[in-house]
Amino acid sequence: MTIKAKAYAAQTATSPLAPFDIERRTPGPEDVQIRILYCGVCHSDLHTVRNEWRNTLYPSVPGHEIVGRVVAVGDRVRGFKVGDLAGVGCMVDSCGHCPACAEGEEQYCDNGFTGTYNGPLFGGENTHGGYSQNIVVKESFVLRIRHDEKDLAAVAPLLCAGITTYSPLRHWRVGPGMKVGVVGLGGLGHMAIKIAHALGAHVTLFTTSAGKVADGLRLGADAVCISTDRERMAAHANGLDFILNTVAAPHNLDAYLGLLKRNGTMTLVGAPESPHPSPQVFSLILKRRQLAGSLIGGIRETQEMLDFCAEHGIVSDVETIPMDYINTAYERMLKSDVKYRFVIDMATLV
Ligand code: NAP
Ligand code: ZN
Repeated sequence: MTIKAKAYAAQTATSPLAPFDIERRTPGPEDVQIRILYCGVCHSDLHTVRNEWRNTLYPSVPGHEIVGRVVAVGDRVRGFKVGDLAGVGCMVDSCGHCPACAEGEEQYCDNGFTGTYNGPLFGGENTHGGYSQNIVVKESFVLRIRHDEKDLAAVAPLLCAGITTYSPLRHWRVGPGMKVGVVGLGGLGHMAIKIAHALGAHVTLFTTSAGKVADGLRLGADAVCISTDRERMAAHANGLDFILNTVAAPHNLDAYLGLLKRNGTMTLVGAPESPHPSPQVFSLILKRRQLAGSLIGGIRETQEMLDFCAEHGIVSDVETIPMDYINTAYERMLKSDVKYRFVIDMATLV
């Protein structure tokens, strides 16, 4: 017996998302079944359904910023009961025994983690994500939500945009006295500003959108620089300790590496369809700068991030949309026209 769920799926890389019926496994002893209330819309969803990373399995039901209510639990589940709020992020399984898993960094699992969607590894089938009415996930990959229930839609994006920015900010020890740059003001970028600000850093936003200056300051940036203005960029040269680059498209990384101090690091979290045209080695070697990458965050750290955000009153700035708006939402996301995360109200999927 399986559980039926209505969902939205792409059938090919060029077809729009449309209604599609899926089945979930009945909860096993360690499983939690969640009725999905809200699901955030990540740029990775768009990269995936359009096969921009050339690894998409179809039909593709995206969505990995999931919040909902527990409706059933298996016999061995101890941490959740029916009626609890729960979250699911980008992963639903990993091997559990490699060094990365042992250290709570399942996202770097040596045997490959199972993505919440497009994750074919352990079960043999293509996992389906949060653009659906329910999901069944093993307890160890389910997150506890401590925010006020009225903020639930705005909590959903923390499950990817929140942890993807929190994890590198913590790893590179961002805190008071540090000058941090955030590149790109979208879903990830706006969370990066809020979290870096809460960690006590001095934050400068670099945006291509002149219309986002006031929002950048409101969200917690101390300064905003329009990155297409060479003179303004030059004023920041050699001034930053750390840069978190969230841009979803290929661009010239040298323009940002030049803003780092000696020993500074720029970490890429944006994952464009095709490579960046740079860097030149001199951007790195002249000041012993480092270029790094970071992938989401482990389950333990995701819980830590949720608790940190609850404690600091941090949620996402969202535009709540009905399920059937999703294709329009994708087009707007491509135009950087989202303030700053679309979140699907799953009650509209009937
Ligand atoms: P988003 O909301 O679309 O934001 C991306 C921002 O990049 C835009 O708002 C825009 O900011 C800037 N940008 C500049 N030029 C652009 C262009 N030509 N096309 C698109 N954006 C441009 O996307 P997101 O959901 O924050 O995701 C950002 C990237 O991170 C995506 O590639 C996504 O797949 C990736 N991601 C990675 C991880 C990870 O684990 N590493 C996790 C989640 C997502 P301005 O208007 O301010 O310039
Ligand atoms: Zn994501």
